[in-house]
Amino acid sequence: MIQKTENSFQIGGIDVKDLCNKYDTPIYVYDTAVMKTQYEKLSNAFGNRKPKIKFACKALNNINVLKYFRQLGSGLDCVSIQEVWLGLKAGFQPHEIMYTPNCVSMEEIDLAVKEGVQINIDNTSILEQFGTKYGSKIQVCVRINPHVMAGGNLNISTGHIDSKFGISIYQMRHVERIVKTTGLVVNGLHMHTGSDILDVEVFLRGAEILFEQTEFFKDLQFIDFGSGFKVPYKPEDYYTDINELGQKLGARFIEFCKSYGRELDLWFEPGKFLVSEAGTFLVKVNVLKQTTAAVFVGVDSGLNHLIRPMLYNSYHHITNVSNSNGVPRIYTVVGYICETDTFAWDRKISEVKEGDILAFHNAGSYGFTMSSNYNSRFRPAEVLVHEGKDFLIRKRESMEDILRNQMEVL
Ligand SMILES: *Cc1c(COP(=O)(O)O)cnc(C)c1O
Repeated sequence: MIQKTENSFQIGGIDVKDLCNKYDTPIYVYDTAVMKTQYEKLSNAFGNRKPKIKFACKALNNINVLKYFRQLGSGLDCVSIQEVWLGLKAGFQPHEIMYTPNCVSMEEIDLAVKEGVQINIDNTSILEQFGTKYGSKIQVCVRINPHVMAGGNLNISTGHIDSKFGISIYQMRHVERIVKTTGLVVNGLHMHTGSDILDVEVFLRGAEILFEQTEFFKDLQFIDFGSGFKVPYKPEDYYTDINELGQKLGARFIEFCKSYGRELDLWFEPGKFLVSEAGTFLVKVNVLKQTTAAVFVGVDSGLNHLIRPMLYNSYHHITNVSNSNGVPRIYTVVGYICETDTFAWDRKISEVKEGDILAFHNAGSYGFTMSSNYNSRFRPAEVLVHEGKDFLIRKRESMEDILRNQMEVL
C-alpha cells in the first residue's frame, strides 16, 4: 500500500522514488505488513472460532509471498497441479493445500492425489471416475454451485446459472447416487461464487444453501465458503464488511454445527482480500501525446503487465508519485503495446510530465500472475518490502527468457 508522507510517497516505510532508482521501472512492490493486517482482520472476525484461511495462490504466486502466508498460519488454495507443486516447494504440508481445479483431466487429479493434498471436485463425471478409482480410500470435497448471483461482473462471477463452475444444487440426487455406489467419503463442501461480492447477505444466502445440502453428507469435516470479498479500489470506496460477515456467519455456523451434530471447520480461500491492497505497480511516463480527442499518457508498461483494466474493466487508482501536489488534469493512461491497452479513460491525475512515476494501486492480486510476454516484452521485477527493508524477489526478465524453450531449427 502506497502512503503519502509530507514530501514523498512510501511503501512500508521505503521511499518510492528510491525503489524506482534502485530497481528501475516497471516494478511490482508488495508490502507484507498489509498482508498481515488483512490476514488478521479475517482471522479475528469470527471471535474465538477462528476460520481456516487458505490463501488463493493464483492471485499472487511469488514463492516468498507463499512462504510469508505460511508463516502467518495460512494454508493454500490451488487451482492447478503446478500451483500445488509450488505450494509444496514453499513448505506447505499436503493437508494444508486445497486443490480446486476446473475442467482438468483425471490424470491431473491423480497427480494431486499422489501429493496427498485435499481434492475438491466440481463435476459429476470426474466425481464418478474418482469414486470408481479410489472409493473410500481418498476423501474428497465437493464444489457446489448454489446459483447465487454474486458481484456485478459476469466475468468474475462463478455462481450464476450459466457458470461452468461447481456441481449444481439441482444435481445433488446424482451426487448422492455416485457417493452411495462408489463408497466415496465426502469430507467437505465448498462454494466459491465469484469476486467483488460486497453484500454479506450473498454469503449468508450461499451458506444456507450449502447447509441444506449437508443432510446427505455424514462425514463432513469442513465447509469452505470460498471467497470473493470486495476490497476498496478508490478512496472512500465500498468493501465487504468482514466483521459483519464474521458475526453473522459465525453465529449461524455455530447453530448449524449443533444441528449437524459435530463441530466442523469453517474455511475461506481469499486471494484479493489478502494481497490486492498490499501491491503497487510502479511505471514511468514515456510520452505525453495530445491528439484531437484526448491527452494520452503513455507509460513503460501495458496489458502485458497489468491486464485487469482491459480484461475486466477493473478500476485501478493512479497516483502521480512525482508530482502529488500539482493541478489535477484529465488524462487517458495507456500502455506501449501494439493493441488498444487503456488503463484508464478520463482520469484526473495531478499534472503529469514525461519521466514521472505513476503508481497503480490494488496491484497485488491478479497483476503479475496474469502478466505475459506479449510483444516480446520482459515481465517486470517484483520487490517485497518486509520489516522496513526491500528485497528483489523476482528479477526483471531478459532476452534469455524470451528465447528460453525456443528451438532454432532454421
Ligand atoms: C480465484 C479463486 C479464489 C480467490 O478469489 P478472490 O476473489 O481473489 O478472493 C478462491 N477460490 C477459488 C476456487 C478460486 O478460483
